[in-house]
Amino acid sequence: MNIYDIAIIGAGPAGITASINAASLKKNVILLEKQNSIGRKISVCGAGRCNFLNENLNESFYNLSAQKLVKSVFGQFGKKEILGFFDELGLKYYSEDRRFFPITNQSASVLKVLEIRLRKSAVKTELNFEVSDMAKDEDIFLIKSKDLQKISAKKVIFAAGGKAYPALGSSTSLYGIAEKFGHGVITPVPAAVPLTAKDQFCHFLQGQKIFAKVKCVIEGKPVSEAAGEVLFTKYGLSGTAILDVSEQASIAINRHNKKVKIELDAVPFMEEEALKLELAERIKKGFEGEDLIAGILPNKFTTVLKDYIFEKNVKALSYMLKHKFFDVQGTRGWNEAEFTAGGINTNEINEKTLESKLVKGLYVAGEILDVTGVRGGYNLAFASASGFISAKHAANT
Ligand SMILES: Cc1cc2nc3c(=O)[nH]c(=O)nc-3n(C[C@H](O)[C@H](O)[C@H](O)COP(=O)(O)OP(=O)(O)OC[C@H]3O[C@@H](n4cnc5c(N)ncnc54)[C@H](O)[C@@H]3O)c2cc1C
Repeated sequence: MNIYDIAIIGAGPAGITASINAASLKKNVILLEKQNSIGRKISVCGAGRCNFLNENLNESFYNLSAQKLVKSVFGQFGKKEILGFFDELGLKYYSEDRRFFPITNQSASVLKVLEIRLRKSAVKTELNFEVSDMAKDEDIFLIKSKDLQKISAKKVIFAAGGKAYPALGSSTSLYGIAEKFGHGVITPVPAAVPLTAKDQFCHFLQGQKIFAKVKCVIEGKPVSEAAGEVLFTKYGLSGTAILDVSEQASIAINRHNKKVKIELDAVPFMEEEALKLELAERIKKGFEGEDLIAGILPNKFTTVLKDYIFEKNVKALSYMLKHKFFDVQGTRGWNEAEFTAGGINTNEINEKTLESKLVKGLYVAGEILDVTGVRGGYNLAFASASGFISAKHAANT
């Protein structure tokens, strides 16, 4: 049986970048992908625009436990190198609000330049190859697929991603294989995900979007906050501000069974005192019903605020608009999550080489690791950078 120098499991941004780099270092590489095409998640990234990098790229935008490893990866392959990599592939891009997008505004362009390079390199790509088991005999890895095909390789790179968006190719089997080899897996939970909450605000304001500030409050303590769009839905809360605080909420509920609330400031452009004065002034001028909040909030809000408005209770109304609390029941789950929080424990991975400290010759890259960046291009950036670095070290040892 042919023994490959490097087998790379998963053809997302991490696995593709790793394959391209390993092939450029003259290694005999095989890329194994369970789906019938590569890079499917890339095509939906950034709502089809693919926000692949951020001007501010550094470790502080990732979970605390991963920052040492992330710093080491970006120290070797950071913003400049990622841009250089895409320059070399022929991708033209621009940045807006510090986020990088392809100039075509199409994720398909990012995938296309990667595909072209992969095709031109000597990488053998096996599609519909779902890795279900792996063994190590002396220095050789034996990889088995679900339908019992076998591949042997001297080095392996795990780049199978996380659990988000299963329709685009997530998998849990590699977590199991990592555990079989002694690795700890931090319980994966959905992140950048809408939250569920039973509340009459959500019921009556369904479909309404506002610009607001939100705080994630765990067991009474605010732990994170964000400003941006909040969308009320029939099941709870969505929108960019909610996605930005959802990771902490999801970890607290799904890993620690803690009570989570979202505190909403629906009028972030006014101090509470100023809001109170303005409402009192309107009442003095004879404003009634929906006129009381007209021009401050969408008219639909009158329905949920009708008791306060009817009672002309300015103090209670202002407080409610600045501090509305929602009891969060959970998240909308993997089908609506953009990222996975959790994965292979970074403490067990050599932060310079991305080689497992437990299994010689096994490297790990991308979202399968317990590395989660905030929204804004940080996750794709880590996937490409860690893919590149893991291949460099796998090829050089
Ligand atoms: C809707 C959405 C929008 C997003 N937008 C952005 C954005 O704009 N910017 C950003 O930075 N990030 C974004 N992300 C996150 C980003 O897509 C991921 O962080 C990134 O794709 C992770 O790359 P990866 O290569 O580690 O894993 P993946 O992209 O998940 O690739 C893993 C690959 O491994 C394959 N695989 C899994 N298990 C097996 C197995 N057992 N055998 C063989 N193959 C296997 C999968 O089919 C998949 O192709 C978004 C995610 C989603 C879902």
